[in-house]
Amino acid sequence: MRFIIIGGDAAGMSAAMQIVRNSEGHEITVLEKGEITSYGQCGLPYVMSGEVESTDDLIARKPETFREKYGIDVRTSHEVTQVDCNQKVVYAERLDTNEDIELKYDRLLIASGASPVIPPWKGRDLRGIYTLKTIPDIQEIMEAATEETGKVTIIGGGYIGLEMAESFVSIGKKVRLIDRGSHLAKIFDEDMSTHIHEEAEQKGVELHLGESVTGFNGDEKVQTVITDHGEYETDLVLVAVGVTPNTSFLEDTGIYKGMNDAITVNAFMETSILDIFAAGDCATQYHRIKQKDDYIPLGTHANKQGQIAGLNMIDRRRSFKGIVGTSILKFFDLTLARTGLSEHEANQEKFPYQTITIESTHAAGYYSKNDSMTLKIVYHKESRKLLGGQIIGKRGADKRIDVLSTALYHQMTIDELEDLDLAYAPPYNGVWDAVQQAARKAD
Ligand SMILES: Cc1cc2nc3c(=O)[nH]c(=O)nc-3n(C[C@H](O)[C@H](O)[C@H](O)COP(=O)(O)OP(=O)(O)OC[C@H]3O[C@@H](n4cnc5c(N)ncnc54)[C@H](O)[C@@H]3O)c2cc1C
Repeated sequence: MRFIIIGGDAAGMSAAMQIVRNSEGHEITVLEKGEITSYGQCGLPYVMSGEVESTDDLIARKPETFREKYGIDVRTSHEVTQVDCNQKVVYAERLDTNEDIELKYDRLLIASGASPVIPPWKGRDLRGIYTLKTIPDIQEIMEAATEETGKVTIIGGGYIGLEMAESFVSIGKKVRLIDRGSHLAKIFDEDMSTHIHEEAEQKGVELHLGESVTGFNGDEKVQTVITDHGEYETDLVLVAVGVTPNTSFLEDTGIYKGMNDAITVNAFMETSILDIFAAGDCATQYHRIKQKDDYIPLGTHANKQGQIAGLNMIDRRRSFKGIVGTSILKFFDLTLARTGLSEHEANQEKFPYQTITIESTHAAGYYSKNDSMTLKIVYHKESRKLLGGQIIGKRGADKRIDVLSTALYHQMTIDELEDLDLAYAPPYNGVWDAVQQAARKAD
């Protein structure tokens, strides 16, 4: 069989490797519009802060490794422009030679990811305005972040905005963070975000919340950011207001798209058209708590969906079990972690719910070196099943969010959480762990 994969990063190359590892005799062609394959985008902010030494460290496998070691025909600088699902043909342009090519496939995987959005703000094409998605992006940002570039404006208080705020501060920049919402990190409830705001202010990040950007001024290069509240001087702007799936080249194919224009897939990563699969940031994910498709573009989902797509492309039936909405990020000294539904989402989904919020510690209360943490749990008022959890703290937040996400995956109740046999010793927790302390407070 001839497999074509569009996109050579997390989802696409995970699929390609599954095909290579679990079958023989197939032809695999990967069409990637960039120059780099299979790299850890999640590590990009840490290259600027120096926690990751070089962008080279983020690259798992280079195109030549895929070609020479695994026999995958990886073609970089190839942008797919159209797909003919009836003739089973993919049309692409070679960006280095402007040559048009067409390739026939037996099975196709769309793993084209997502791209950062810049709203149609006045002056958005000025030099000095960046988004962050790829290795070349961070290289450009780092080149621009010279000593003369003192003032940085970040637009968007999601995870990329927050991680980059920390990175810019770590290299001595004065950071202003603008978000039109009333609080940073909207995946957390407003009551939890107070801790994030305090951390930002303590670390010198100037917050402008509830403020909408309308444009930029400058002579070729950006000099000011204009909002509905004022105009601020800036030397560099990072726009981190979200991403949109790269699916526009699929117009007129009949491939069904759902939320945010992401490709709708079933549990086998099959699209609405036979022999066409999709995975990663260009596709939807089934949300186990919401019991419907969602769009939460994350590397953890892209790798899993890619792997499952690859197996199904060679008829090794395996299903994607869905997500529960777990994510984590470091913001200066804090760990921000969440899983399932926030209270805001539980409301939106019209679940009758209760919440419990506690202040606890990562170690036993009497243990001298303990870090405080705030833990919020949302559970169903009638069935008592867990709906979600949010933790903001320092050490120990990561392990507890994974306890909660595992509990959510298995549809546990708040009472069952209390019954769990969790590891205990004073340097790690109290005899009742923080998650159990919260569960014990349930009505
Ligand atoms: C700064 C940053 C930090 C992140 N941190 C985290 C984190 O901590 N945890 C987490 O889970 N996730 C994180 N993510 C998200 C994660 O990186 C993405 O979810 C993941 O890379 C998606 O993989 P993908 O293969 O679906 O798409 P992509 O990585 O977007 O890859 C798609 C590929 O397709 C190519 N392509 C697109 N259109 C075409 C076309 N028409 N023809 C040919 N090729 C095409 C693109 O060039 C790209 O290489 C982060 C992302 C960024 C940018």
